[in-house]
Order: sequence, then structure tokens, then C-alpha cells
Amino acid sequence: MHLESSAENYAFRDQVRAFLAENLSEELREAGRLTTSIISDHDASQAWQKVLYRQGWAAPSWPREHGGTGWTPMQQHIFAVECALADVPIVTPTGLAMVGPAIMGHGNDEQKAHYLPRILSAEDNWCQGYSEPGSGSDLASLQTRAVPDGEDYLINGSKIWTTNAHNANRMFCLVRTSNEGKPQEGISFILIDMASPGIRVEPIITLAGNHELNQVFFEDVRVPRENLVGAENDGWTVAKYLLEFERGGRAWGARLRGAHNRLSAIAEARGLTARAAFARALADLEVRLTAMEYTEHRVIADIVASGRPGPASSLLKLQAATVMQGIDELAVDAVAYYAAPHQPAARQPGSNVEPIGEPDGVAVMARYLDQRARSIAGGTNEIQRNIMAKLVLGM
Ligand SMILES: Cc1cc2nc3c(=O)[nH]c(=O)nc-3n(C[C@H](O)[C@H](O)[C@H](O)COP(=O)(O)OP(=O)(O)OC[C@H]3O[C@@H](n4cnc5c(N)ncnc54)[C@H](O)[C@@H]3O)c2cc1C
Repeated sequence: MHLESSAENYAFRDQVRAFLAENLSEELREAGRLTTSIISDHDASQAWQKVLYRQGWAAPSWPREHGGTGWTPMQQHIFAVECALADVPIVTPTGLAMVGPAIMGHGNDEQKAHYLPRILSAEDNWCQGYSEPGSGSDLASLQTRAVPDGEDYLINGSKIWTTNAHNANRMFCLVRTSNEGKPQEGISFILIDMASPGIRVEPIITLAGNHELNQVFFEDVRVPRENLVGAENDGWTVAKYLLEFERGGRAWGARLRGAHNRLSAIAEARGLTARAAFARALADLEVRLTAMEYTEHRVIADIVASGRPGPASSLLKLQAATVMQGIDELAVDAVAYYAAPHQPAARQPGSNVEPIGEPDGVAVMARYLDQRARSIAGGTNEIQRNIMAKLVLGM
């Protein structure tokens, strides 16, 4: 893949910049700047997705037939970089970047016609029901059970660490439909209406004090059998396909570049770049980030060649987690004791609470704490290394 930009790519970049200048409000930029984790403030994320939807840009990577932009992978990349550098709020990925591609790849025609437009327009908000209290890395051991009952399944069990379940009206969920054969062979992938009787959502508050995670309980929840994606007991195929999209193709590099720029600005404002040790640490992160951006280009090239991110997405996810954590650690060093005040109200978009210290430091500690989870969410660093050992190195 050629990284150099052609005249058309520069023209496209200018078009994106003009669009952002006109449509990205200061309120939305603020929500983007105050994002501390893998998701932004829900209302801001929704509002921004609706702006993109009106422009026809909500799903840059989707095929045009399903409402995507038809952009080349390089255009998608340029768009992601410009958005990240302009501090857009993160568009919640569970619909557009996760279950959307899974439905396109494995859903039937009715499911595509029903769900894809509602994902695009943000009418449906999705959460991911994979992990359970006893099943994370060893996901195939999951026990939430779906038992056929007439035209429906009856679902019982619990999912945990479910990001955004409290804001979602839909869940894509892995359930056990058989105990025969290997554990992977008895799992099905099903779409659940979160308003179904018998579902209870309990909050889990993060170290930073945010409500993003939940535990979800299912008690005799009735879900139509037609909500299966793929065949009964073949959900593992759909789940693995979806995880590649979760780990790759998400413009990690652009977000990290935005975070690195923010860190550089914080350091500059405090005169830290003149100090050798700090400047060296900043440069080290810059080198690792650049290497990551090149990996991302390789993943984009894989998507062009094969239509899916492939196992290199694990490498990307691992690098993104470690570089992001490095940036957040150095940001804490940079703001020093001003990282200490716990002021959740001051980092809400639109807040009029006066921050203690400079405003650019208000989210630094929360980000540091929230981003510890980056090396766990979406599959831990160790699991990514296992996947690479097996699928990339052939060990
Ligand atoms: C912020 C956040 C958001 C999340 N959002 C969601 C969500 O929306 N939906 C969802 O379904 N899940 C979600 N998760 C759950 C996440 O996918 C799991 O936490 C993750 O897969 C790890 O599982 P676990 O927590 O059960 O840890 P475990 O699997 O118990 O792992 C514990 C430790 O053992 C190590 N380990 C385990 N197995 C191996 C092995 N084979 N080789 C080497 N080391 C190993 C792990 O690397 C880890 O260090 C989220 C998690 C976080 C932190």
C-alpha cells in the first residue's frame, strides 16, 4: 500500500477538514477531548453519529449497498485521522464496527434489511454480551443458556463487563445451545432486545468513577429463534469474525496520534520538552506510535486484499494498548500533583465546575486509570500474543 498521498487524497482531506470545520461543534469537540476510555459520553457520541449519518458518512468502511461511503481504505484512513485530530467524540463501535459487519457477513437478508439501517442512523444502540463471570479469555466455556421453547429460546445466565448495556436497546450475545462435542461447537450468536422482560442491568463503576460497565442478568428471557445470526451451534464462527473487526480496522493510530499531540501540548505548556529525560520519553512514544501506524497500514492492506483484518489485528490491538498506556502514564508525570484531585464533575462535557489546576489536565488521571483496562478489554495482551504465536508465527 502506498502511504504517500496523491492529489486526490489531499483534495479528499481538504473536503473532510471543511466538513469538520462546519459541522463539529465546540461542545462535541469538548466531549472528544474529555473522553477517558474506549467510549465517549453517550449523548455526544450519538449526536456526532447523527451528524455523520445526515452527511452519509456514518459508516466509512461499509459497502455502498448497505449505506456505506464507498471510500477507498486510504480515504477511510484519512477520514479517521482528521476526525481524531479534530477531537471528535468516539462513535460507539459496537453497532457500526462490530455487529454491523457480522450481520453483513453472516446474517440473512431480513436481518440485513432490518438491522443495518437502524445501526447506521443510531436508532439502535448495541452492547456486546460475550464475557461472563467465569468466562473471559476462555470464552468457549460460557454458560449462559438458551433452550428452545416453541418459536423462541428461553435464556438464563449472566454477562459481565458489558460496556454501555445501560444505554443499549440491543445486545449481540453468545449463548450455549448445546453441551455436545467441543465447547466451541455448542455456542450460538443471537440478537436480543434489551427491553425483553427478565433482563436486569446492574452498573459496575470504574476506578476513575465512570459508569460504562455493567453486569447483565437474564431470567427466562424469551428471544425469537429467528434472531439467531448464522446456524444454531455455529455462533463461534460469527464471534471470531466479529472479534477481528473489534481488534483491527478501528483507526487506533489516529486516536493515539491525537492523544500524543495532546500530551505534547501539555508538556510544551509546562516547559517539559526542554528537559532531557522527559523529551526522551516523549520521543520514545513517538517512535512506538509511528511503528504502530505502519502496522495499521499493513492491516488496511490486508482488508483491501481479503476483506477482513486478519490475525495482524491482534498485533495492532496489543501495540495500541501499550502505546496508549505509555502516553497516559507520561501525561500523569507531566501534570504531576495536579493529577491527584478527583473531580469527575469537572470533566463532564458542558460542566461549569472550575477544575483544580489547568483545564488541559482535568481528565489526565481518569484517562490513566480507565486506560489500564485497554490491555484487558477486547482480549488481554497475553491472549493477543497467543493468537499471534499460533496464527502469525505458526508456533
Ligand atoms: C473496560 C472493559 C470493557 C469490556 N467490555 C466488554 C463488553 O462490552 N462485552 C464483553 O463481552 N466483555 C467485555 N469486557 C470483558 C473482556 O473481554 C474480558 O475482561 C477479557 O476477555 C479477559 O477476561 P477476564 O476478565 O475473565 O480475565 P481472565 O480470562 O480470567 O484472565 C485473567 C488473567 O489471566 C491471563 N490469561 C488467561 N488465559 C490465558 C492464557 N491462555 N494464556 C496466557 N494468559 C492467560 C489473562 O491475560 C489475564 O491477565 C470488557 C473488559 C474491560 C476491562
